[in-house]
Amino acid sequence: MVNRRCFDGVLPTPKILYCYVPWGFWGFCENTSPKYTIMLSDRMPEDQVLPTLVHEMIHMLQFEQDKEPTHGREFKQWCQHCSKVLGISVS
Ligand SMILES: [Zn+2]
Repeated sequence: MVNRRCFDGVLPTPKILYCYVPWGFWGFCENTSPKYTIMLSDRMPEDQVLPTLVHEMIHMLQFEQDKEPTHGREFKQWCQHCSKVLGISVS
């Protein structure tokens, strides 16, 4: 649903895992060919789940475009775009 509304449906469906995420992260996106894996921390406050998922989906988009998964200017623009579309605060 987020994929369609924010990314024009261009992203492949990732495998989403709710699990313990190490390194103190709330979310993590990995390019695990042939699918992407998005890990979401099971300790995360519920209202952070969607923003974190969207954050990781932007990284997925970067992987798809053969770009480094960074938090640069383009990333921020995507955050703004998704925040507006979904009415939440993505950062
Ligand atoms: Zn990130």
